[in-house]
Amino acid sequence: MAECIFCKIVQGQIPSEIVYEDDKVIAFRDINPQAKIHIIIVPKKHINPMNEINENQAEIMANIFLAAKEIAKRQKIGQSGFRMIVNVGPDSGQEIEHLHFHLLGGEKLGKLVT
Ligand code: AMP
Ligand code: ZN
Repeated sequence: MAECIFCKIVQGQIPSEIVYEDDKVIAFRDINPQAKIHIIIVPKKHINPMNEINENQAEIMANIFLAAKEIAKRQKIGQSGFRMIVNVGPDSGQEIEHLHFHLLGGEKLGKLVT
């Protein structure tokens, strides 16, 4: 996906503050944080959540949640807690068509839906 911002981050073509990386998953700080800690977790492979989630993605979804647990530990919010959000499609306000999870924490969070 030549024009995908998150693919460019995965490939190191645009700078980001990477907080976690393994062979399948990468995580970096959101440039417009909505909480004290706001991290974006993405599969390295481009997956469009609107039309490319199927049983073949079961393993990468598990990998993302395992990465989230490790990231929370490293950010010292494993005990205080955090929220994971995934936006899918127009009503969610999704801006970037590369599957990504927002990991938010580091403070008391507001209501789930705004
Ligand atoms: P979404 O609305 O779920 O598609 O969220 C996209 C998120 O990516 C937003 O929270 C943006 O602030 C964030 N974002 C966009 N460009 C970058 C970037 N270059 N580095 C880090 N985060 C970004
Ligand atoms: Zn992409």
